[in-house]
Amino acid sequence: MLNLKGPTKILLIYTGGTIGMVKDYDSGTLKAFNFKKLLKSIPELNQLGCSIETTSFDRPIDSSNMNPGHWTEIANIIESQYEAHDGFVVLHGSDTMSYSASALSFMLENLAKPVIFTGSQLPIGDLRTDAKENLITSIQIAALRDKGGPVIQEVGLYFEYKLFRANRTTKITAEHFKAFQSLNYPTLAESGVHLKVFNENLLVSKHKRPLIVHKKLDNHVAILKFFPGLNEELLTTVLRTPGLKALILETYGAGNAPTDDWLGAQLSKAIESGLHIVSVTQCPGGGVIMGQYETSAHLQKMQVINGKDITTEAAITKLMYLLGSGVSHKSFKTVFETPLRGEMT
Ligand code: ASP
Repeated sequence: MLNLKGPTKILLIYTGGTIGMVKDYDSGTLKAFNFKKLLKSIPELNQLGCSIETTSFDRPIDSSNMNPGHWTEIANIIESQYEAHDGFVVLHGSDTMSYSASALSFMLENLAKPVIFTGSQLPIGDLRTDAKENLITSIQIAALRDKGGPVIQEVGLYFEYKLFRANRTTKITAEHFKAFQSLNYPTLAESGVHLKVFNENLLVSKHKRPLIVHKKLDNHVAILKFFPGLNEELLTTVLRTPGLKALILETYGAGNAPTDDWLGAQLSKAIESGLHIVSVTQCPGGGVIMGQYETSAHLQKMQVINGKDITTEAAITKLMYLLGSGVSHKSFKTVFETPLRGEMT
């Protein structure tokens, strides 16, 4: 525990990822290392003027190993520490950070404090690391207060000088420091010479309601990306997956899909037998506009759910959350098409 004097209390939750990794020189691979050492390597944290406590997964993981059980673990930590802290920073591998952060945005209903996800492309000990700036500014953002209350009251993702709404982000590069983008929603804050917050883009909880933590997530879901040449056997196999409750179709452009008879027949049969099918665009920006082209009118007619401008990461986690929450079959489409945490326009 690192205890710095100051009024704002931040909890740092370390789950793993490059930010806390070191190189194993025998094998040449990156491995998680002791979190306490990570903090010792950033003495600058002492200058932030807030009190920082830390907690860590027992076994920090590469985020490729993340699953809904880990999301519940993060949610449990936030729930048990919610009253005792003013803000939370979650250190997480960048590979699946947008999924985890989107999931947490749905799990934490009535959130009124900042939960900022961050990580890095290079380990903290690396000479050219991006970890220090990401970590320090994330803590600063989580500690921002105005009129006695937190400025950020939602799940954010901070990376390379920008704070985004987490459930609007996607990892776009494994090479550059600017690893994330939010093409369908503007930046929440930007760090330059000054730390600028764009208040007009923030989610603000109007009603002060107690935090509700939803821990039931149902992963009987799948994603199928359309590609020219997708054959009937593949679609049939996916649709016949035992226990499948919801399927995301990554459609082309503004939500377009082939108009082959077999495809329409298979999809409408699946919907009639109770499967929820959501259309999201496979384009990084923009969204589904059902019925704009003939190639989406058939999906609209068979009551495919309109994913609008939601990211695939937010769509899959929203499905797990809604299925886990027991939303009725009748209202499922309407609820999915309604923005719950600012995840769609
Ligand atoms: N493989 C790492 C992870 O996601 C990459 C990173 O941390 O950025 O855990």
